Parts: sequence; structure tokens; C-alpha cells
Amino acid sequence: MADLKNEFSWSWSRHRAFETCLRRYYLQHYAFWGGWEPGSEAREIYIQKKLNSRPQWIGTTVHQAAEWVLGQVRRGHYPPPERVVERYERAARRMVDESARGLFRIRPKKSPGFVDHYYDLNTPEDAWEADLQEISRQIRGLFDNRVFLRLTSVPGRIVEVERLEQLFVGDVPVWVSLDVLVSDGEGGFVVIDWKTGRAHDAETVVRQLGVYGAYVVQRYLRQDPGRVEADQLDRVKVMYVNLREETYDTRDLDLAAMRETLATIDTSSARMRELLVDVGENVAKEADFPMLEEGAEACAHCAFRRTCGRG
Ligand code: SF4
Repeated sequence: MADLKNEFSWSWSRHRAFETCLRRYYLQHYAFWGGWEPGSEAREIYIQKKLNSRPQWIGTTVHQAAEWVLGQVRRGHYPPPERVVERYERAARRMVDESARGLFRIRPKKSPGFVDHYYDLNTPEDAWEADLQEISRQIRGLFDNRVFLRLTSVPGRIVEVERLEQLFVGDVPVWVSLDVLVSDGEGGFVVIDWKTGRAHDAETVVRQLGVYGAYVVQRYLRQDPGRVEADQLDRVKVMYVNLREETYDTRDLDLAAMRETLATIDTSSARMRELLVDVGENVAKEADFPMLEEGAEACAHCAFRRTCGRG
């Protein structure tokens, strides 16, 4: 197998890490490299990178359930809600059990740990149970959700579900994974994003969805997102569905939003590259990515706090 190379790319989550803490960005995208090998120098950072918080676990499990159901529906099978809830509740419990047994030390990718176990937080049993109930509630809620039900009624129109894809903005490769992309049956597309947590602010979500919109323009409308016309952009809508609150919001992508999206990618990727010691080889040096100040709020829940001595 050819040697893996850490190539530069951009994604919305990478941008968020860069904006939150430069050291976190460095650990997550550079220092972890090679840590998949047991005994390697980067092993501990790799284990930390793979850790889940409990809100992330809720989100991942509900997304996996939605993805699985839509996959089944596209093959003509309609699994009963209780079977889906049971399947994913079991998977969620198994994750907790494996983490509590410390399997993340042996196979951090297949059995990622929880921040709670890694940092010995002694999270009470009823907190885990409350989260498991929330997972079940949200999965059950999919089957009453208008948007989800509409998707299951038009499986032939579903174009993508959680597929890792790439677009290019200038020379910058940008990774995207859309929760769902569906055709509207009239030559247009709707990007759907499931949200499961409490802490989403609508404007940030819409900015994230703007990146997905740029992907749809490039891939499916076969237009350069930087030159797309307003009437072509009318064919792309973005929608985010909050499964916790049972609300949804649909937005049009207009030219101003598209310009803002492209400017964000451009500026953010340029700033990331400026900090590299070798742009061509994508090499970064730890000292160029300082930690936040002692006591910073972001450190309190950060998976890397042991590496930073903030644990
Ligand atoms: S612990 Fe704090 S300084 Fe260290 S990576 Fe996390 S947020 Fe940054």
C-alpha cells in the first residue's frame, strides 16, 4: 500500500476548530498523524481525537439511524420504528460499555472512547440513561417528522445520504458530507441537515449549509459557484431540521450567501496555509499554533486537555 500523505484540505468542521483554538486545530489535523499505529508517538493524541462527548454520541447515533432507514427505504424496505429504536439503542449502549472497559486504548477507531471515561468524570448512571432515552426519543420522532416522512415517500428522489464528497474552491479541496440531498422533482435540489443538540445557532447552521449548497451547484448544476446566476441558484434550497425541538427551517441560497460562503473558504484556507512551514508538503510546527489562555472556556470540555496540561 502506498504511504498515506497528510494532504491539505478544508471542511466546515476544520474551519470551526481553527476558529476555536489553533492548538486544537494543530492536534486534530497534524499531530495525530500516524497515531493509528499502536505504540506510535502520536497514539495518545489519536485516541483523544477519536473521543466522543455525550452530545456528539447522541448526534452520531441519531444520524446513523436516519441514514440506515433511508438506505433501507431506497431498497424498498420499511423497517418498523420500534425495530430501528431497538437496533440503535443497542448500538449506543454497546459504545458506552466498550468505552467503560477501555477498549479505546486498543482500537480507538472501531471503539472510540467517551471523554467521560478517558477523563474519569464519574458521570452518574442516570445521566447516561437520560441520554439514551433522548436517543430513542429522537429516533422514534423521525417517524413522525414531516420532512423525514416526506423523504420516505419519495425514495427515488433521494440523491445522496451521508456520502463523503469533495468540491474545489479555487485550488482548495473542500470535503462535504450532506445528511441528505434530495431532488425536488422539478430540476431543483434540497439539502437537508439533521440537528440533534441544543446549541445550534441558526446563522451558523445556514453558513455551514452554504458550503453544501456550493457543492450542489458545482456537482449537480455543473456551474462554477463563483459565477452562478441568481436564477440557477433558485434551484437550490437548504433546510435544517432540529430533531430535538421538532422544528425545521428552509432557506433559499441567494447570490450574497454564496459569495459569503466562497469568501469564508478562501480566507479561512489562506489563513490556515499561512501558518504552515511548508505549504507544498502541508507541514506544520506546534509552536506556530498556540494554546488558548489558561482558564479559557473552550478548554473545559476539550478532548485534548490532558495533552495541553489543562486536564
Ligand atoms: S485544551 Fe484548550 S488550549 Fe488545549 S487544544 Fe483544547 S481548547 Fe486548545
